[in-house]
Amino acid sequence: MPDVLNLIDGALVEARDGGWRDSINPATGEPHTRCPDSSAADVDRAVSAAREAFPGWSSLPVAERSDALRRLADLIDEHRDDLARLESIDQGKVLSQAREIEIPRSAANFRFFAGAVEHAASSFHDMGGAGFNYTLRRPRGVVGCIAPWNLPLYLFTWKIAPALATGNTVVGKPSELTPATAGRLGELAIEAGLPRGVLNIVHGDGAVVGHRLVEHPEVGTITFTGGTSTGARIAETAGPLFKRISLELGGKNPVVVCEDADLDRAMPHIVRSAFSNQGQICLCGSRILVHRSRLEEFMEGFLPRVSALRTGDPLDPESDLGALVSREHLDKVQAYIELARSEGGKVACGGRRPPELPDRLDGGAFLEPTVLMGLPQSCRTNQEEIFGPVVSVQGFDSHGEAVRRANDVPYGLACSIWTNDLSRAHGMAARIDAGIIWVNCWMVRDLRTPFGGWKQSGVGREGGEEALRFFTESTNVCIGFEP
Ligand code: NDP
Repeated sequence: MPDVLNLIDGALVEARDGGWRDSINPATGEPHTRCPDSSAADVDRAVSAAREAFPGWSSLPVAERSDALRRLADLIDEHRDDLARLESIDQGKVLSQAREIEIPRSAANFRFFAGAVEHAASSFHDMGGAGFNYTLRRPRGVVGCIAPWNLPLYLFTWKIAPALATGNTVVGKPSELTPATAGRLGELAIEAGLPRGVLNIVHGDGAVVGHRLVEHPEVGTITFTGGTSTGARIAETAGPLFKRISLELGGKNPVVVCEDADLDRAMPHIVRSAFSNQGQICLCGSRILVHRSRLEEFMEGFLPRVSALRTGDPLDPESDLGALVSREHLDKVQAYIELARSEGGKVACGGRRPPELPDRLDGGAFLEPTVLMGLPQSCRTNQEEIFGPVVSVQGFDSHGEAVRRANDVPYGLACSIWTNDLSRAHGMAARIDAGIIWVNCWMVRDLRTPFGGWKQSGVGREGGEEALRFFTESTNVCIGFEP
């Protein structure tokens, strides 16, 4: 595959000092492309370009900005097959996940926010005979968008689209592990006719490129999705500079299976919620809490389904699971399985490299979907984010206990509840500390709704109006009437 390049000031360029990084196909362990190993100087050039483009872009009529973003969405759709294949090779995900879900959603991100700003209104407060107030919402300037490797284009565009639609200019930094589709996005942005400097993309190490973006004095807004410890470092740097930050971080999401749950209906969704993208979605359910009266029946249905999942070549349409993102990440996930054993847990299925992979995949980062049982609530395996194809199943005796366990982790991103009892569903939803609660479904997303986490799962909300607010600054204008 051709080299991935930075997009700076409307041109596709190498890093200024010429460094490169290999991007590894995690299914084979072999490099498949390379991207610029950029430095702080490349970030500075990109920020200058974005700053210069800001007055022109922010003063365009909203419809013109939205049309440009819709052209970009159309190009993503046109190149869907190519982008999906790249995402699969770069990240290890099965091709269908990229083709059917992630690439269409990347286009939808641009289309949604292009429409949202055309329909947005700001507030008006009447003071009767004394006058009135209206609130202006203006773009904030240059926005830094930092994205992780798990849903590379989907999450990168989730940040870029609302930032651009509201009139800001952007310097984006994809994960160094998955630069390929961000590289193609840069090419498509030029083809869509985005004015130069409006969108800039700089590849490279997080601690260099990401850090420079966060500390750069001209970047007043940072939107970040990634791990909780990186989020803490970003907050530490950005806080004293009074930047506006949005942090979408890790999770340890509970799946609550109530006494009355319809298991036949729930089971395929619960399996999907645990193992989609090899468990590397921040919203995956990694702790399954089952009412003890249904635990045996649940395991009888769950384990055969999990064991039947095929882990293999991400490009093979027969594969249900592909590779983890890297050997290093695989080592981390496997270390958690060992930890679970030492904490008294039992591996009910999985836990190994799949035995029958073709020779071509010898260097790949593969792990069977793994189910753990018998672990106490307080152990590290049940408290820390593993971010792999590993779930822990626990029983509970009362629905109050389920709520307590659901909340008894440092995270609060998402939860799914399986019940046919309406008042139980509403009651639990009001008591579980999570940014998203699904009842009898999982991963159903409406882009108008708020998205974000409680506790160590994040700071702030994006999505819908929350995003329009985050990426704009308000000024209240008070008009006084003559007495
Ligand atoms: P990381 O925190 O390692 O990296 C995220 C991004 O931050 C990458 O682009 C990374 O660059 C960059 N980065 C790393 N160090 C710094 C720094 N010091 N300053 C600025 N940027 C930096 O996360 P992962 O990529 O490992 O992603 C997995 C994590 O993301 C999981 O914890 C997962 O739960 C979370 N996540 C949260 C979501 C949510 O919406 N709440 C959604 C999806 C994932 P580089 O890769 O080049 O080092």
